[in-house]
Amino acid sequence: MNGIVKIPKPINEPVKVYAPGSAETQSLKSKLQEMKNNTVDIPMYINGKEVYSDEKITIHPPHEKNHTLGTYNKGNAKHIQDAIDAALAAKENWANMPWQSRAAIFLKAADLLAGPFRDRMNAATMLAQSKNAMQAEIDAACEMIDFFKFNVQYMSEIYAQQPPENSPGVWNQLEYRPLEGFVFALSPFNFTSIAANLCSAPAMMGNTVVWKPSETQIYSAQVIMELYKEAGLPDGVINLVYVDGPTTGDVIFNHRDFAGIHFTGSTGVFRHIWKTIGNNIEKYRSYPRIVGETGGKDFVMVHKSANVDAVNTALVRGSFEFQGQKCSAASRAYIPESMWAELKPKLVATTNSLKMGTTEDFTNYINAVIDQKAFNKITSFIAAAKEANDAEVIAGGDYDDSEGYFIRPTVIVAEDPKYSTMCEELFGPVLTLYVYKDSEYEQTLKMLDDTSEYALTGAILCKDREQINVALNALRNSAGNFYINDKPTGAVVGQQPFGGARGSGTNDKAGAPANLMRWTSMRTIKETFVSPTSYEYPFHS
Ligand code: NAD
Repeated sequence: MNGIVKIPKPINEPVKVYAPGSAETQSLKSKLQEMKNNTVDIPMYINGKEVYSDEKITIHPPHEKNHTLGTYNKGNAKHIQDAIDAALAAKENWANMPWQSRAAIFLKAADLLAGPFRDRMNAATMLAQSKNAMQAEIDAACEMIDFFKFNVQYMSEIYAQQPPENSPGVWNQLEYRPLEGFVFALSPFNFTSIAANLCSAPAMMGNTVVWKPSETQIYSAQVIMELYKEAGLPDGVINLVYVDGPTTGDVIFNHRDFAGIHFTGSTGVFRHIWKTIGNNIEKYRSYPRIVGETGGKDFVMVHKSANVDAVNTALVRGSFEFQGQKCSAASRAYIPESMWAELKPKLVATTNSLKMGTTEDFTNYINAVIDQKAFNKITSFIAAAKEANDAEVIAGGDYDDSEGYFIRPTVIVAEDPKYSTMCEELFGPVLTLYVYKDSEYEQTLKMLDDTSEYALTGAILCKDREQINVALNALRNSAGNFYINDKPTGAVVGQQPFGGARGSGTNDKAGAPANLMRWTSMRTIKETFVSPTSYEYPFHS
């Protein structure tokens, strides 16, 4: 164990606002242009080496599908095996490195990202994941910087937790060991910062990692890898591969040294992975740690006392920013009948006014959804709602994939509170509302709690403190992140540790000490200074 040092107290990275004509806007725009005009061929990174394959897959902006940003090199089962071998070979040196040195690497990564890497990370996220400047900034820059800095702080706090010295002649210590084997990081498309956190949190705690990102996040994944390299991360500590999910899973989950998975993605994929691990349990050296943040059907509950403009803003921002593709995005809302007549025209007008287009045009609020598969899924629900007898599309409802995967923000009003889009995760810019009788507030809370298998985020908008408490109690298990008089999105590392329960995940709270604890295995060391030399006790003498 290495001596404890004082870590600089982290503060959240200030968010740049990218006002028109500002220096930061000009700088980001020129980086966007530069990257858009230069095609790249993105390698895998195994043991610090760039690995190219014969299978090149093209990358296109979701909002401009006929433009090519470059290619990535798709790998196969052999690449996964090589990545595991590299992780296992790098393990001893990395685990033995003083933790302060590991901390320094990630603190350096944070400062590099705050400075010279910022525009590049944001531009990559804007171009290939279709996030506008603001959404990219809060994710790819600020949240990633916060993950690195706050996790370093939490790591130091964990290592400092030691048993009390209250037994004379005995010294008790806890050693926080990395897990035995390698950790698998499996990341989603929607947050660049989540991808970075999934691989860096276990690595920070001394583990070595095989990281497989989503196919639609590879363009910014490469920037993360280059950031790590520049910050001094040794070869083989994090190995980045682009192999399809089932092939990757087949090699990883059959490996004796598989020590844990750090996953974010959909509930179905996570359940499948959990079952596979369960079936293979005898094959492993240890019980693997399974950490997963998964789907959501996030809600906004509105009480009749709420301010109607606050409700409108929470619904529009909470549901449509980043095209509703935040795991925390509001996608169902419960509106009291007495407010509906006033809210409806405001909500329709605001929703229909949201400007949609490319991310290079900074005046656009809405950009494209991630790919054709998402476009097809989301629009099939909109088409069905247009035909349904028990639902009505009151705003948006149009879509067009001729140039990019564009779907107008859409509001559906459902007569049936269990209508399909009130229950299922669509992961797109679609909000479904149910209008309830004011007198049925408590029954509606109960129904809300029973409507979905998920429990990720949710919000109550209400001025009446007593009724806020009624909702807090009724919805205790309906959300891992609960908001009072705010939208249910925008969790900040260090302020609102993030994660849900039920079908939404293991709730190990990204950006919190609880998560880092999953990547360490404690060894208790008791040392007796003067060992007894007689076996006898007083009771039998
Ligand atoms: P996804 O489940 O489709 O993919 C996640 C990762 O798993 C990707 O890398 C994918 O390639 C891989 N994968 C897919 N099938 C696999 C298989 N059979 N075996 C092994 N790997 C496989 O998710 P996505 O579309 O990238 O992300 C959106 C989902 O993520 C939504 O459900 C959203 O709610 C969820 N999400 C949750 C949180 C949270 O904190 N709870 C945060 C972000 C996203």
